[in-house]
Amino acid sequence: MTSEEEKEIIRNVPFMQYFTPQQLEEFHAGGRRLELKKDDLIFNEGDAGDTMYIILAGSIEIFKQNKQIAVRGPGDYFGEMAMIESKPRSAGARVMEDTLLFELDHVVFDHFLNSNTRIVKQFLQTISSRCRVDLDIIDSGYLQLFKSEERYRTIIETISDIVFQVNPDGTIEFINSAVKVLGYEPEELIGKHFTTILNEEKTPFLLEDLLTKRIGPRATTNAEVVFRVNEDNPISEFIDEMFFLVDSHGVWNVRNDLVMKKGAAKKFLGTLCIARDFTERKKNEELMERRKDELETLVYERTKVLEQAKKEAEFANEAKTQFLSRVSHELRTPLNAIIGFSELIVEGGLRTSKEKLIGFAQNILDSGRHLLSLITEILDLSRIESDTIQINITDVDMILTLRELVMNIEPEANRYEVTVTNSTQGMDPVYVKADDVKLRQVVLNLLNNALKYNRKGGTVQVCLRTTSGNTAVLEVEDTGVGIPLEDQHKIFEPFQRLKWEYSDIQGTGIGLTICRRLMNLMKGSIGFTSIPDKGSCFFIELPLGKNRTQSPDDAPVENKQTEPAPTSRKTVMYIEDEPINRALIAACLANLEWIDLHTATTAEEGLELAQKLRPDLVLLDILLPGMNGYSAVAEFKKNPVTRDTPIIALTAQAMQDDIEKIKRAQFDSYLTKPVQLQILNETLSRYLK
Ligand code: ADP
Repeated sequence: MTSEEEKEIIRNVPFMQYFTPQQLEEFHAGGRRLELKKDDLIFNEGDAGDTMYIILAGSIEIFKQNKQIAVRGPGDYFGEMAMIESKPRSAGARVMEDTLLFELDHVVFDHFLNSNTRIVKQFLQTISSRCRVDLDIIDSGYLQLFKSEERYRTIIETISDIVFQVNPDGTIEFINSAVKVLGYEPEELIGKHFTTILNEEKTPFLLEDLLTKRIGPRATTNAEVVFRVNEDNPISEFIDEMFFLVDSHGVWNVRNDLVMKKGAAKKFLGTLCIARDFTERKKNEELMERRKDELETLVYERTKVLEQAKKEAEFANEAKTQFLSRVSHELRTPLNAIIGFSELIVEGGLRTSKEKLIGFAQNILDSGRHLLSLITEILDLSRIESDTIQINITDVDMILTLRELVMNIEPEANRYEVTVTNSTQGMDPVYVKADDVKLRQVVLNLLNNALKYNRKGGTVQVCLRTTSGNTAVLEVEDTGVGIPLEDQHKIFEPFQRLKWEYSDIQGTGIGLTICRRLMNLMKGSIGFTSIPDKGSCFFIELPLGKNRTQSPDDAPVENKQTEPAPTSRKTVMYIEDEPINRALIAACLANLEWIDLHTATTAEEGLELAQKLRPDLVLLDILLPGMNGYSAVAEFKKNPVTRDTPIIALTAQAMQDDIEKIKRAQFDSYLTKPVQLQILNETLSRYLK
């Protein structure tokens, strides 16, 4: 730009029109040129200023608090106020594009002002109009600011997050309406310390965190805090605190982008926080935590139960194995005798003396009987164990039962040379709740033991008493050998005979085991006291039943008499597929001369033979090849020839279920194998008289 062009621009500045050409020349010579680049700061707000500027080319902006308030172009002047007032600049000026300025200091300017009052007037007019424009600008700026502030206020007041600002000392400077959720009005909290709403015990760290002078938007704190609900305005009597997540960052008096500049003068104004309610989430988390704990406890307990069950199963398995090996051992012992002595008889033949033969046969008989009782008791025990046993509880008269049982064991007592005293003799009936058959089995076992483990000339005392607990206690007391103290805990275990297995005293060691199980099934109990060498007292306890008058059914069973032998000859047919069984029955009946025995190996053959023979009695096996015993008995009973012929089942199937089935079929009676000679004779006599 030439000097003339510069002068031309300066001449057009409003207050310059009153300058003479001479004065313009002087004015032009009194200032200096400044070439500035875009964004160059000409002066800042608050700077001291005793110069003013005329824009020769380009443009500048005037700003206040980082806000642009005016733009000036060529021919405009600025910066004059600070010069006139001799005060720091009220606004800053920055170059907007490459600009050429004409700078005047106050000495030159004062000179021209003093020389021409019209210049002063013009100058004042310019300043005043500019002030008006500036005021308008400021006004509109404030309006915009107000609108935007209102917009932000609406947003802040309607969001559900609590937004608040605290001073560096922790005083609440601002808080929005969302705080009402805690039962506070925002106004009542302004000026109060932040701990008014903070549960410091549960979140002691937060206040300290808030008041830390953190810088910049990234230096935020996230924390879980507990806020206190207003005690004077409880939102619910059950809620006295709520959980929030707080995001906070420091607030400074400078713009964020300037904050990081080194050395920038800045002041910490406090902390701005946004708190979001997470009570629900917290509750869910706690619930989940509790559930997890419960689940863990449950898993722990279940595992314990399972482990226990596993242990018990292993124990039961072990017990079963032991039991089986005992059973096997117990069965082999009598079998060994049976086979051994039988072999001796077979081998020795006629060379063996008659006495020896009888001795061998007696051993075989004893072992056989022992084997039979073993099998019976093992079956009994296994039925009890497998819960297939039926218990039929009725009111049983103990006095009557004892009278019968004591009477029945009398021959046995005589054999052992033991006196049995029944002190219940003549007493009024005492009813207990029990299964009649099972009760007899238990008492008989106790009576038998009291005889077996007694001594010659000893006594057995039977007594009964009732208790205040509505029970009856039966005691069987003997004067026998007693039970050694160290063995007393074993006697209810199966196969525990306490060395009696090496003696002449017959037994299986299962009787008391069965007794205890039966007593439990009948909701009673069994126990004993024993003094070695003095004797034992076994007792059972049962709940009392209802007293009732004795019905004819309760009458003592008549003593069975052996039937007298019939006078005429009788025909008996035995249907059996096993030759050895046929031979045994033939041998048994050989002494009964009044019987003609015929045999058949199948039911079909027997049915046919019966048409011709018209037998007086049929002994019928159940498990036969072809037609079985059940079908055969039905055929016999259908046929007019054999309809009235007594049909006796003779079976090795001695389990309770089998017996029940036989009873339901049309048999007249049944015998179980091994057949006992006396019972066989009695049955034949009864049906053939
Ligand atoms: P067992 O068939 O051997 O008699 P039990 O189960 O009835 O079987 O009895 C188990 C064991 O308890 C007997 O072998 C015996 O050692 C002991 N015992 C039972 N009753 C008496 C008693 N009255 N006196 C002494 N010992 C007894």
